[in-house]
Amino acid sequence: MGQPIGEAGGPTSPASLLGKYPVKDVINTPRISHHAPRCSRPQTLYLATLAPSVKSDRGYAEAGICASVSRMSATTHTDRLHLSCLEDMPHELFIGGKWTPADNHRLLTSFRPSTGETLATVAHAGASDVNRAVAAAGAAGRPGSRWHRMSPAARSRVLHRIGDLIGEHADRLALLDCLDNGKPLRVARAGDVPAAAAVFHYMAGWPGRLNGEHVPLYTGSPERHLALTVPEPVGVVAAIVPWNFPLYMAAAKVAPALAAGCTVVLKPAEQTPLSALALAQLTQEAGLPPGVLNVVTGDGGTGAALAAHPGVDKITFTGSTEVGRSIVRAAAVDFRRVTLELGGKSPNIVFGDADLPRAMAGAAHAIFYNQGETCVAGSRLYVHRPVFDEVVAGIRERAAAIRLGDGLDRDTDMGPLISAEHRARVLSYLRSARDGGAQVSGGHPPDTPGFFCAPAVVTGADPQAPVVREEVFGPVLVAEPFDTVQEAVAMANDSPYGLAAGVFTRDPGLAHQVGRRLRAGTVWINSWHVLDPALPFGGMRASGWGREMGRAGVDAFLETKTLVNDLGSHQWGPAPAAK
Ligand code: NAD
Repeated sequence: MGQPIGEAGGPTSPASLLGKYPVKDVINTPRISHHAPRCSRPQTLYLATLAPSVKSDRGYAEAGICASVSRMSATTHTDRLHLSCLEDMPHELFIGGKWTPADNHRLLTSFRPSTGETLATVAHAGASDVNRAVAAAGAAGRPGSRWHRMSPAARSRVLHRIGDLIGEHADRLALLDCLDNGKPLRVARAGDVPAAAAVFHYMAGWPGRLNGEHVPLYTGSPERHLALTVPEPVGVVAAIVPWNFPLYMAAAKVAPALAAGCTVVLKPAEQTPLSALALAQLTQEAGLPPGVLNVVTGDGGTGAALAAHPGVDKITFTGSTEVGRSIVRAAAVDFRRVTLELGGKSPNIVFGDADLPRAMAGAAHAIFYNQGETCVAGSRLYVHRPVFDEVVAGIRERAAAIRLGDGLDRDTDMGPLISAEHRARVLSYLRSARDGGAQVSGGHPPDTPGFFCAPAVVTGADPQAPVVREEVFGPVLVAEPFDTVQEAVAMANDSPYGLAAGVFTRDPGLAHQVGRRLRAGTVWINSWHVLDPALPFGGMRASGWGREMGRAGVDAFLETKTLVNDLGSHQWGPAPAAK
């Protein structure tokens, strides 16, 4: 956890804090200061980047020590420190290739979930800013525009370049998501950021391959009619994303939309706006024409204004099922296209013949990864009765060993939840489970600042209890025993959601057959969280509409135009004379 810094150069100064590491190893201690308008004290964070020799010892690219200070005197240290990652961060809206304040100069504050302190303030876009962004996106994609005329090869190069730049700026991007979301830095650095880069590289392969077809007419003359299908970009895309994987979620929407030739207005979550702004900077550096990507930071109101905007041709939304419903209502007004990646309550089935240590590790990873704040969290566990106690005990042991802490601490396994409100919501599920007679292990909030919640395992809950039926979106696992295969499948499918599911068994035939019966967009066998830009991803029923990634993910941003040319009938005979 971070420690407060006192006098400059004193025993708890950044330098001495960093004294935890040999001075030669500290190559960069950026200062992150920011103005918190409603906070009387300037706030500064110090972070340490360690030398490559140290990094390799630790197995990840950046380690950090964080301290929050309230005295300007401490900033004297910056004379010999490199500039911070936040100081050169834009905090304004990105519209038409320019950084611009919100029309009404409103601001939005982002907090550090691991301390509860203000992290940064960014512009808070209103309806008029959304108008400007949609207009810029519309103009940038118009026929004859630079983007419209760009060859598939050139578009592909820009996408690869964005992927490369994400890789080059990986430390900084990981740091932003770590500070903004609370997730462990090493997770952001090894997971979110490379995944975001991979999406751009993968999608860069599509522009040159988006061919249509020649269609032989079924009822007409094959020689008289030339019929073609032509894939065309859907137009202006509103991309609205949540806070749990801020950079990756933005990439998952922006990259396929650009591959299809669309233009985009991206609305990051109000809790985590920073990496989307950094991504906009990188797209500029990569040579994306102005207006092709626009970023409007703001809250649900900003998202609603964007979703309702008549200049938007397609809405791609990732977030809660409840907001998904309101997106559908907004789109229904003039029938704009919609892709929805919504919530989940994903079941994981462990059969008695499974490799049990692997199943226990897999089940723990399925629910506790990213603080349980993943849409595909394996939050319902069904275990064959003869091994139920052993499997649950193994998962409880693993949960108890998870180290909660500041994401900058290299020993941290699990960061805080996103906000105080969200933690209160998670704890209320646990309270009601206990009140209903369930046994709950873990789930206690530690007595430290920040929005931490220890991982929890619930057994003996009423199958109709909210903790079993509803998406908790936190590190809360509900476990129940089953006796037969049919019962396991029925319990797994008894949910309004259908995003992901898992099966642990040594029997490939059983795994395949159960996998086919499970109502979920993705079924993992003896694994969890295996995602790839080439794999279509999405849900059924309350988990959403459509697929992201793979060819299906690009198709979601294309319209199919059918062109039919009646060439007339020609008599075979003398060649036509010159006219
Ligand atoms: P949320 O629905 O509250 O917010 C998501 C985004 O929508 C944010 O940018 C928010 O500002 C915006 N928004 C809020 N109200 C809006 C409105 N009325 N109109 C338009 N936009 C609006 O979700 P969240 O709390 O940020 O994220 C958690 C949820 O996201 C969970 O339910 C989780 O399962 C889901 N999720 C799904 C996937 C998936 O791929 N299926 C992935 C990650 C998260």
